[in-house]
Amino acid sequence: MHRFALKIYGCQMNVYDGDKIRTTLVDRGWKESAEDEADLVILNGCSIRDKAEQKVWSDLGRFAVRWANERKPAVAVTGCIAQSVGRRMAARFPWVRFVSGPRHIGAVPDALERLFPEENGEKSGGKEEAIFLLDDDPRAFLELPGAPTERVNRWRAFVTIAHGCDNFCSYCIVPYVRGRFVSRSAEDILEEIRTLATDGVLEITLLGQNVNSYGSDFSNGYGFSSLLRDAAVRTGVRLLRFVTSHPRDFTPDIVDAMAEHADILCPSINLPIQSGSDRILKMMNRGYTLEQYRAAVSSIRDRLPDVGLTTDLIVGHPGETDEDFECSVRALREFRFDLVHSAAYSPREGTSAAAREDQIPRDVKMARLNEINSIQSVIAREINESLVGRRFRVLLDDAAPRGEGLLQGRTPSDKVVLVESGEELLGRFVSVEITGGENWCLNGRVLHVEN
Ligand code: SF4
Repeated sequence: MHRFALKIYGCQMNVYDGDKIRTTLVDRGWKESAEDEADLVILNGCSIRDKAEQKVWSDLGRFAVRWANERKPAVAVTGCIAQSVGRRMAARFPWVRFVSGPRHIGAVPDALERLFPEENGEKSGGKEEAIFLLDDDPRAFLELPGAPTERVNRWRAFVTIAHGCDNFCSYCIVPYVRGRFVSRSAEDILEEIRTLATDGVLEITLLGQNVNSYGSDFSNGYGFSSLLRDAAVRTGVRLLRFVTSHPRDFTPDIVDAMAEHADILCPSINLPIQSGSDRILKMMNRGYTLEQYRAAVSSIRDRLPDVGLTTDLIVGHPGETDEDFECSVRALREFRFDLVHSAAYSPREGTSAAAREDQIPRDVKMARLNEINSIQSVIAREINESLVGRRFRVLLDDAAPRGEGLLQGRTPSDKVVLVESGEELLGRFVSVEITGGENWCLNGRVLHVEN
């Protein structure tokens, strides 16, 4: 029996892929173990930002001593980082024995077993040549069948509904490393949700780089709103969320589906604005203006008054002037998002923005990022404090990292709520009254536990 350790970096899609790999290996008799006891360590890594990529590079160095003494562990690099720099990692670190981009996930378990041929009798490592699963067809996707039943969280799970992206935003490496946009079959998705619901999962988040393009590559008119309706009525799942939406493709039928099934489809939407300046939005190839973004937000808030609206915002895109940046600041004050995922632009190799000469100095980017973060923390606290006294139905699905005796869950609008409670309430729906609001979360007390 081989022992493996799995470390996941980056976004929820990597969590989902990692859970699927774990589930398949466990089903095949592998045992998950601590890293220092593992024959194989899988690093499912992210390359969307330079910081995430550097984390994996630095983690790889840690295996040198054990490899020199025991020829263990073999390291597998998977995820989008494998597609972008996996070959370089294998060339630099001899313990990197396996490299697979995200479009090859369906071939990963079989290929991992080839690292340990029983007949060679070695304690670890097996054959010397590294295995690479990195072909260049950007629309090919090899699915790993089955639902991710071996998860980190028992009550919450992710289901990817589409792979890749066709949008080629100037700063983004996704179309290059995850490939072009491919929708999964609706029946496969619904079956996976059903399996997870039967397995005790209470909340599922549908994932895609651009979920509202779902079905745009079908010819039968079945789109994201159809999938939302089917998932709400045909799978038995109790709560459904989704990320991420593209403002250009956010059509009213999606909000209609959310309003029709408000008991299951949570009113939370991540609508990345990326910049408040039309000039920068155009450079970014985002395909909308600030006015069009404003119209999308108004129609969402008109129809779903309690919606939680979050966004992604990049500061310091090449060519961003002080005036462009001020447009982003004004947009934050205007839209008053519940949460902003802010980032300083970081050049990604092969993207159009990385090739521009008008890069913004790091100190300017960091100053802009700090300004955005301090403005948003005031807005978030004001919004959160305004919720004191409100009552929400919350699924308590995890221990809060902040301390013992605290559990956490999310409001329908996707705000983290911390409550004092013993672990007996894990996996239960409770009614919570909000007692305080902080920048990043709410505090509450449990009023009632559902049967
Ligand atoms: S929409 Fe743009 S930012 Fe989002 S994944 Fe596609 S290319 Fe990247």
